[in-house]
Amino acid sequence: METGGASRKPMLTPKAVIHQKYGSKACYKIEEVHEPPPNGCPGLAIAQKGACSFRCNLELPDISVVSGTFKRKRDAEQSAAEIAIEKLGIHTTNDPTAEESWDELVARINYLFSNEFLSALHPLSGHFRDAMLREGDLYCLVPISVIFAYDARMCNLSKWIDPWVESNPYLAIPCILRAAAKLSESLYIPKGRLSIQRKNPYPSEVMTSTVTESSLSSERSLIEVVRIPHLLDKPVESIILDLSPTRYYLDLIAKELGLCDAAKVFISRPVGRASSETRLYFAASVTFLSDLASDILEFKEALHFEEPLNARATYLSGQDIYGDAILANIGYTWKSKELFHENIGLQSYYRMLINKTPSGIYKLSREAMLTVQLPSTFTTKANWRGAFPRDVLCTFCRQQRLSDPIISAVSVIASSKSSDKQNLQIVDSAAVEQDRANRGTIVGNEGQRLESEDTFRCEVRIYSKSQELILKCSPMDTFKKQFDSIQNVSLRVLLWLDAYFKDLHVSLERLTSYAHALAIRFNPERFFEELASCRSVHSGLNSKVEGEISHKSNGVKLPCNYVGCGDSFPNIRGSDSGISPSNGSLVCISYNVALKADGVEVMETIENNDEFEFEVGFGGVIPCLEAIVQQMSVGQSACFSAELPPREFILASTLDSARILHLLDSKECCLDYSCTLLRVTQPLEDRMEQAFFSPPLSKQRVEFAVKYIKESHASTLVDFGCGSGSLLDSLLNYQTSLEKVVGVDISQKSLSRAAKILHSKLSTEPNSQLPRTAIKSAVLYYGSITDFDPQLCDFDIATCLEVIEHMEEDQAYRFGNLVLSSFCPKLLVVSTPNYEYNVILQGSNLSSQEGGDPDDKTQLQPCKFRNHDHKFEWTREQFNHWARDLATRHNYSVEFSGVGGSGHLEPGYASQIAIFRRKSETRHEYPTNDAAESAHEYQVVWEWNSSSK
Ligand code: SAH
Ligand code: MG
Repeated sequence: METGGASRKPMLTPKAVIHQKYGSKACYKIEEVHEPPPNGCPGLAIAQKGACSFRCNLELPDISVVSGTFKRKRDAEQSAAEIAIEKLGIHTTNDPTAEESWDELVARINYLFSNEFLSALHPLSGHFRDAMLREGDLYCLVPISVIFAYDARMCNLSKWIDPWVESNPYLAIPCILRAAAKLSESLYIPKGRLSIQRKNPYPSEVMTSTVTESSLSSERSLIEVVRIPHLLDKPVESIILDLSPTRYYLDLIAKELGLCDAAKVFISRPVGRASSETRLYFAASVTFLSDLASDILEFKEALHFEEPLNARATYLSGQDIYGDAILANIGYTWKSKELFHENIGLQSYYRMLINKTPSGIYKLSREAMLTVQLPSTFTTKANWRGAFPRDVLCTFCRQQRLSDPIISAVSVIASSKSSDKQNLQIVDSAAVEQDRANRGTIVGNEGQRLESEDTFRCEVRIYSKSQELILKCSPMDTFKKQFDSIQNVSLRVLLWLDAYFKDLHVSLERLTSYAHALAIRFNPERFFEELASCRSVHSGLNSKVEGEISHKSNGVKLPCNYVGCGDSFPNIRGSDSGISPSNGSLVCISYNVALKADGVEVMETIENNDEFEFEVGFGGVIPCLEAIVQQMSVGQSACFSAELPPREFILASTLDSARILHLLDSKECCLDYSCTLLRVTQPLEDRMEQAFFSPPLSKQRVEFAVKYIKESHASTLVDFGCGSGSLLDSLLNYQTSLEKVVGVDISQKSLSRAAKILHSKLSTEPNSQLPRTAIKSAVLYYGSITDFDPQLCDFDIATCLEVIEHMEEDQAYRFGNLVLSSFCPKLLVVSTPNYEYNVILQGSNLSSQEGGDPDDKTQLQPCKFRNHDHKFEWTREQFNHWARDLATRHNYSVEFSGVGGSGHLEPGYASQIAIFRRKSETRHEYPTNDAAESAHEYQVVWEWNSSSK
């Protein structure tokens, strides 16, 4: 990140520390931790899954320790070493002494002024060559400012001698001066010049070769740089620098800053991309210049900048910068002896600026400054576009010069008995380790854990550079995938930070309550202090903010957005193809955004995109665009106007800033959006269920069934349309009276998945973390539930969750009749989507919008089904009719319930459920005609008995 990346202490890894102390006496043993393989499922070819992690045993003469489990062997080893270091209290400092540092510093300066260095490929050596282009008494003078800006080694050594250099890099100057003074035989330090010169000229052969080489290869060129005035009301402007091959480029920059000598130019560390040579240059018109102060303390006192702090430049670089500054991408590199340079225009400047904000980082990653914003929810990896939340958060912390965030994912064993047992694992290896203790002591019984019951919870902590805790986000949500848990918690933090950047003057109260809603705790003092500099620089990226920080039942909604829709009614063109998106759909659009100025005919395109994908329904694009796309069908186009976003975004988006600025300043402007819907990929039902409900709807259905199983003391259960066995699998996590469980489905693929999961779970030795199930037998059948197999008669409980809507309506009636007349379970639980609830799932964003159209389109437009495989979705009335009719016909009672949402409020539950109870104790003697006709033995695809283990 900083100069050449070498400015941080070269820390030894924990393993290296152990090695130094114990050598070959340290013995690492790696142990594989994995799920038991699903061996021998009859009739099913099941690919063995290689999910496996490692744990490390480190044996030392004094102690032995065990690491947590890790995906990679070496992480497990490092962790074990780290725990050992902690336990043994080994001091891990490998800093040289101050004296050693001084000696090295002197040796380093000696080398820099040597003959070899002049022709070396080093970012600094070009300055030594250029110094020979300087004229008069500047001839061969090398500015000290370049020495510490471009030689990482110098910089590090100075930091070791004086840690203050870390926070105030200019304090390296007296260190360098003092070291150079020890070389007075070969070096000359002109008084007050802040430069060093060789006493003896370079030998002529060295000079001729290097000088001709460099002057031959460069030509005169004009490069664009940016001037950042220190006065905030003066605009940042683009200027042209005339680079000549016969002049030292730093002297040219000095001239631009009103100085006559490059030695008075201070140079910041690189800003923007870590590898770039983009730096800020500013005048060092400091008072000590009259006097050579090589004493650090004296210098510290004398160091006083005459110019006021440049807030914008300081914010960009994270370093104190005074007076007017020049931002330029120029310098020598490790790759070539030629001077490298690239234009830096206003667009680059604004991009750097917004790259310091969470939504700006995200916008840049999508190259869509005027359309995207951070989505409010992370649904799936597959549907996420642009940088992932975790990466955006890491970039943000780096940009704001905070420590890397610490992201710890906890795997929670989701069993009723041991749900409080957790296994903490730090997943972010880049993060500073804070949880050694936890990690070392809580080592779960992982050998016996099964993936199917793992859920992950994740926590994020953000520390300042000085390791003070600024923010902590620890939501209780759990996720099937560790990746999802990490992205979700990172997104929460980003949304909160974004709310702050959108309205920098938001009240503490608001900020706190929003934090609360997101399970974030923060230290206001530290937070405001660390992010103080953004206040004077960003106008608040949401001047039009209504400041509505609210959160929806399913999660979090972004504060209002900066682009207001105005009154313009969307103008949709083209015929309705019938293919239109709903929430969770992935859409692909092409779009164009142009600046429209009052009374000006031609519009200036600012941003366009031929193929742009986003997931509808999660606020991933500005509200207007999302709202309009939701009303379009594939092939249609639409346009709308929107108020101007903050200038920062417009200028970060356009290359032609001069022209745009002129328009913005002289005319009333707005943005004109036009877009065409190219493609729609429909959402997956279960994904939608996960995004909208917590716990996910599928989990709520299982819990619902468990309640009835417990109440009825059922010992036999059949799951009609069991799919991949999610219900059966989850049931095994609960202590129930069930002895026999059966699943039936017509999908072989789902059945083999179910078999795999159930098999591995049932054939595992019971252990303390799973309840002892009473299950003696489990069977999976391949068959249609509209056929009758007498083996499945008279079960205590039958479930049929989210299945009937996958059949044609007449088949759903047929199944209903068959199950109550012939299978005759004592209890039957049937669930199916409530069509009326789709309005909420599909139209929430439209209908909740303020100032909505009175004849809101969503109310009139029929909703889409939740899944393309659904043959129907019933309203409450339709479902009630189906169920009541069946119940009366077959001597059952029926009651209605549901999961997701509320039964008391419109539009009822998301999943509606009917519970049928058999009225007679014993079932009819004979199967009905219907049943006899359709009797058909199901085919066993997998079977398990407790004795057959
Ligand atoms: N009950 C499961 C799966 C629901 S998906 C759950 O809640 O997760 C619907 C399932 O019904 C699919 O697996 C499909 O294969 C199955 N199905 C559809 N028609 C069927 C039929 N006639 N007989 C058996 N299963 C059927
Ligand atoms: Mg379904």
